[in-house]
Amino acid sequence: MAECLECARVREECALVFAEWLGCKDELALTRKSDKEFTARRRALDRAQGKLRECRAREAHHREEAHAGNRLPYDDEVAPKIARLHENIELGDQDGVEQAIWDLSPVSNGWRAVPDEVVEQLLTALRDEKMYSSYLAGHPLNYFEFESARLTTRQKSLCIGFLTAHGDQFTDIHSQQVVAELREGNYLK
Ligand SMILES: [Zn+2]
Repeated sequence: MAECLECARVREECALVFAEWLGCKDELALTRKSDKEFTARRRALDRAQGKLRECRAREAHHREEAHAGNRLPYDDEVAPKIARLHENIELGDQDGVEQAIWDLSPVSNGWRAVPDEVVEQLLTALRDEKMYSSYLAGHPLNYFEFESARLTTRQKSLCIGFLTAHGDQFTDIHSQQVVAELREGNYLK
């Protein structure tokens, strides 16, 4: 499936919009509600969110039309991607972690759904003393926002359970923001 030019194009576009969305989130996390830039940055994030939604809808539409839906991950497909995530967390490589999270997305793989294994492994990676204070934790947490439309009821409840048990333990500002969004927004409802 890597040979389809339209898949490659739309996936590239989604990756760029994803990066823009992450950038907007970071900027907003560093802005206090009382700052005069807050409203503009909030709007920029909403715009990026809208673009992300459109882009992903185009990607799903193309796959449906051209490839008769999609496929599920192969048995041994997820584990190496999770291993790469752990490597980049160990290295403290923010770009590497961001890339590893993107590589676990159905959009970048042509997967029909979010595999249970990905959700379970991301929560396992987050359930770690070092992650609670790490600036890297926001990335795995973001996955649950980014993929919320495709999460199953069981996957959402796993995430809710995790946030109930451990959400308050995150001390980095970016992670705290994502935890608050996941708890208060519609992502896991
Ligand atoms: Zn294609």
